[in-house]
Amino acid sequence: MRVDNDGGICHNSRIMTQAEQMLLPTEAWRVIAEHIRPLEQQRVALDGSAGCVLAEDLRADSDYPPFDRAMMDGFTVRSADCAAGSVWLVVAGELAAGDVPSSTIAPGHAVQINTGAAVPAGADAVGMVEQTRMSEDGKRVWIGQPVQPEQNIARQGSDRTAGQVVLQAGRRLGEAQISVAAAIGAGEVPVYRRPRVAVLATGSELVSVDESVRPGQIRNSNGPCLTALARRIGCDCQDLGIVVDDREQMRRRMVEALAADVLCLTGGISMGQYDLVPEVLESLGVEIHLRKIAIKPGKPTLFGSTRDGRYVFGLPGNPVSCFLIFLLFVEPALGRLQGLASDPPRPVLAKLRGRVGRTKDRDSYVPARWQVERDGGITVEPVEYHGSADAFGLAQANGLVVRPARAGAAGDGDQVLVIPFWWQR
Ligand code: AMP
Ligand code: MG
Repeated sequence: MRVDNDGGICHNSRIMTQAEQMLLPTEAWRVIAEHIRPLEQQRVALDGSAGCVLAEDLRADSDYPPFDRAMMDGFTVRSADCAAGSVWLVVAGELAAGDVPSSTIAPGHAVQINTGAAVPAGADAVGMVEQTRMSEDGKRVWIGQPVQPEQNIARQGSDRTAGQVVLQAGRRLGEAQISVAAAIGAGEVPVYRRPRVAVLATGSELVSVDESVRPGQIRNSNGPCLTALARRIGCDCQDLGIVVDDREQMRRRMVEALAADVLCLTGGISMGQYDLVPEVLESLGVEIHLRKIAIKPGKPTLFGSTRDGRYVFGLPGNPVSCFLIFLLFVEPALGRLQGLASDPPRPVLAKLRGRVGRTKDRDSYVPARWQVERDGGITVEPVEYHGSADAFGLAQANGLVVRPARAGAAGDGDQVLVIPFWWQR
């Protein structure tokens, strides 16, 4: 092998294109990221927007709180009257949440008030009900403790003022963000369109989950797995089932599947005689940007795009490889389509329990369980795992130990890197 003048690598006297070379994971991500453009923006109902990414800043429609608000149940007072505590004040009425105070509070007076009610003019503090006692006739109240100015009052605009940005563009709408959007009256929100993802499994040996398995066949587990992964991150995903290893049938099904923004294929992209996916994609005008990543498992991975802005990921057929490649590359790519500044997940440091073997020329990933110990440190232990076809091992894991290429074995107590599945118990 020698390096050609213009950068291509000559192999068996043929120049390999960049797409044919094995790329480092960082290079592969760079290639993917430089092709992805965010989808268009639209307004959607707040109910149903969870998981979408905001396309514009949202601003406060008024001050928050919108009025001076009691933060405790008790008596609202002029604090100067109660500076020393232990005073009797005249009870001048009652304010519940939702009431509008009509008069100014006079010196020597108190108004019974509930949490969330508007504080009347003249009052500058609320004494907690626990530190007060009513006279028997209910006309006077004894304030037991000194009350400081501003105590238990949230002033109008002290959280946010009218017009201030309360949620930034580029933020994913989770539960707390939906709460804020509701608070400011945003019944519709400007977001990036949810990516439409199609999942198609290739392989003549595959049958669907509800079919019986004849000798030589296995069930399509990648389809349901990828569909669930894509839906978890807010994509509109359709499982298109299975296509056999036949050029014509693949062509037909892929034309249909390319109506989606992103097509996730599995299987059929390595070097076997029935690995037809790359040539069928090329015949449909898909430009292939990468075909191999230096990663274990997951080496046979394909990424391509069409001129009209659709993307294709060809994921390895083995279930663990397929899951890993989705997590490392497809998920952040879908994030970018949704307007996020996503990158592949960053590992955290953890202390190894047990042992992981040495690696060769590829970064290697091993299914494992991590946990937070009593001292706050993280430990991680590999699960029993028989390689990239072992979905059963992966299903016991809540993360992956990452070993860099050409690393020695690691043992008990060694620091290792872990990619946690934060959502998985
Ligand atoms: P391939 O990438 O097509 O060579 O497939 C590699 C391995 O993964 C083979 O053992 C396949 O049977 C298996 N495989 C391929 N597709 C799937 C799938 N959708 N679900 C489960 N296993 C699969
Ligand atoms: Mg196959």
